[in-house]
Amino acid sequence: MTGTGLLTERCDPYGIESTVKLMGGLYPENMMGRHIWYCTERAEARFRYVCKGGDYGFRRQNDGGLVQAFHCDGGHQGVVMPLCRRHQRDLAVGPPKPGWSADRKTPYGQVGGTVSHEMCPACTVGKGSRWEGEIRGRMENADALQQELARLQIAPAFLMPQAARIQAMLDQERARLDELHQLGVIHRCPLKLVEVS
Ligand SMILES: [Zn+2]
Ligand SMILES: [Zn+2]
Ligand SMILES: [Zn+2]
Repeated sequence: MTGTGLLTERCDPYGIESTVKLMGGLYPENMMGRHIWYCTERAEARFRYVCKGGDYGFRRQNDGGLVQAFHCDGGHQGVVMPLCRRHQRDLAVGPPKPGWSADRKTPYGQVGGTVSHEMCPACTVGKGSRWEGEIRGRMENADALQQELARLQIAPAFLMPQAARIQAMLDQERARLDELHQLGVIHRCPLKLVEVS
């Protein structure tokens, strides 16, 4: 990558210009949808998100014993994003807190969403741990069961027993995912925006 190339490069906070990736490629493509937009500013430098790592896990309610903290080495990386000055700042500090403009007519900021730099998506599936396969599998199952359940809610009454069975399967998947969350395997690592030379 030459310096001249960088000068003409457009700001691409979502990695759209290069690949169809949301938030540095950390989110799956099916989350793109309504989030797609472009920044017209010229990029100033290239950045990527890097996962900071940390120690997670908390005490289980049922046995009262302390669970050993799960250590995450971090280091997960998003795709390289050429960014303008404003987006460097926005992605480093996150969007403004939800609120209203001075005339109290225009809402701004992120309502009900996750601040991107506070969560490494790789860590929400225990990437790199020996539980990654299990977590991904269970999340997929839970999604599929959830959809099946939603479909059955408008189905005739004779399908009720089937819905109850699916609900039970869904509860089971969620219980194990909750457990992995309590153990700290599933966790939210903070992200750091790092300049790439
Ligand atoms: Zn920008
Ligand atoms: Zn991570
Ligand atoms: Zn982590």
